[in-house]
Amino acid sequence: GQITKESLHYVQMLGHGNSGQVYRAVHKQSNQIMAVKEIALDISVAVQKQIISELEILYKCNSRMIISFYGAFFCENSVSICTEYMDGGSLDQYMPVPEHYLGQISMCVLEGMLYMWNINILHRDIKPYNILVNSAGEVKLCDFGVSTQLVKSIASTYLGTNVYMSPERVQGQEYGKPAEVWSFGVTLFELATGKLPFKSLNEATKATTLQPFQIMRVIIDETQLKLPREHFSPELVDFVNRCLHKTPALRLSGQDILNHPFIKRQSSFDPSLISQLVISKQQASQTSMI
Ligand code: ATP
Ligand code: MG
Repeated sequence: GQITKESLHYVQMLGHGNSGQVYRAVHKQSNQIMAVKEIALDISVAVQKQIISELEILYKCNSRMIISFYGAFFCENSVSICTEYMDGGSLDQYMPVPEHYLGQISMCVLEGMLYMWNINILHRDIKPYNILVNSAGEVKLCDFGVSTQLVKSIASTYLGTNVYMSPERVQGQEYGKPAEVWSFGVTLFELATGKLPFKSLNEATKATTLQPFQIMRVIIDETQLKLPREHFSPELVDFVNRCLHKTPALRLSGQDILNHPFIKRQSSFDPSLISQLVISKQQASQTSMI
């Protein structure tokens, strides 16, 4: 059935990003726990309706690597998107992630991404904050840009440059699959090291924040860092390098990804590994609260 604001009991704020806040909430009738993302947008009722109807494609996305969609509604000036709650939060909270987890994590993210590519949906915002984990050991992608109208409305309301964007994207060229491979490369570099693959971006601090046009220049002109060979396997180092070519056509394609040794050497998905990562962090944060 339809979810409304009144049918939800808001429990806790889970975090916020550029465009809005995410809450943990309980759907009162069904007792279902949900993550509810609220984005404030000044748009007409017609545009609101279009966004809600475009988001409904998400009902048809059934992959264990994609966050389940429960529904969306408009209330006053905000759209709320209700999805599966992941008790481990997003991967930024785990950085740096030891390499023995990264193969399994990559496999899940890439499987989710390729599943969506097959039904002609691009993610448009791949980054550690949009990869979620839970104590069952599942790894899932969230925040797909399925609604063209929502993507447009957010872009016209909130500042859009981020450090995960590919050189061709920051230059305003057409957005395509290679741009997603680039963003995944930046993500994997950051998960592995806790740093970004550009020296200048790592040197920026709160006191010397880079302006969007400076971030663009770095992405376009500065040479990408490579993962240090002393600390990471040759397969991972090579995989990241091949995602981070400035020229889109030289990056790994969907098929190349599946054939790359970093992915090929993975045994089948074993949730107990990621489960252990999530549970040990939950235990550590409980101990620190006492
Ligand atoms: P952006 O606004 O650019 O998308 P973001 O992804 O960091 O940036 P949000 O999507 O608003 O911002 O999410 C904020 C935080 O809420 C995330 O970083 C994540 O930790 C948490 N979160 C989001 N969705 C869920 C979910 N389904 N389950 C649990 N935690 C979530
Ligand atoms: Mg997000």
